[in-house]
Amino acid sequence: MSFVRSRGAMTIVPTIKLFETDAYVRELETTIVDQSEDGVCLETTIFYAESGGQPGDVGELVLDDGVPLLVTNTQYIPGRLRVAHRLAAPPGRSLIGAKVLARIDWERRYRLMCLHTSLHLLCSLVDAPVTGCAIYPEYGRLDFDIEATLDRQRLTDSLNALIRRDLAVEIQYRTAEEMSAEPSLVRTVQAPPPRTDRQLRLVSIGDVDRQPCGGTHVRSTGEIAGLAVTSVEKKGRRNRRVKIALTAASERST
Ligand SMILES: [Zn+2]
Repeated sequence: MSFVRSRGAMTIVPTIKLFETDAYVRELETTIVDQSEDGVCLETTIFYAESGGQPGDVGELVLDDGVPLLVTNTQYIPGRLRVAHRLAAPPGRSLIGAKVLARIDWERRYRLMCLHTSLHLLCSLVDAPVTGCAIYPEYGRLDFDIEATLDRQRLTDSLNALIRRDLAVEIQYRTAEEMSAEPSLVRTVQAPPPRTDRQLRLVSIGDVDRQPCGGTHVRSTGEIAGLAVTSVEKKGRRNRRVKIALTAASERST
């Protein structure tokens, strides 16, 4: 049984994805609207759904009686209308209609937000197409299609200079037509730009980077306490893999 098949011919009401408009909501009261052996769907979610190299959120859904359901991953259901919250253990009864307090593992998510925003900054420093991206709570990496050698220390210094400028991170929406007029905006070679209701979500960081992205970011680069390029690996003649990590516990902003 899957979420989609269980709805038969009924219209699927999309999950309201609050993480797209406010990445700083850590807790939210909402309702379970669907359930399968894969997990549960919520009316509104703050759990980021795995996409674009950023992992899905983990956390808990606390029922009225105080019992927490542990969420081990968050993923889109095919078609991306709804988001499935994978549970550590099947609840053993129907929870459709149940009110829950959704709570994400904020420490993990905030590290992902800092690293994700930092990868945009790294992207702005290397004039080459991006062929791969992955973000983990411990580090982030980008693969660049470039033959030239990249200097680890110089990149580290440039990244820290950018975060010290405390650049504002802003989200805007564009139509596909508006985006096709600016092909330079698409930096990632393989992945198509993210779509939201036929609009593309554009992330700008001050005057240094602007690209389509569906991920979660900090509001300003000044929230990132410090960064280091931990390695530059040669993964092929024209592929350089650059890994970055946070060097100090970044202040947890609310
Ligand atoms: Zn992003």
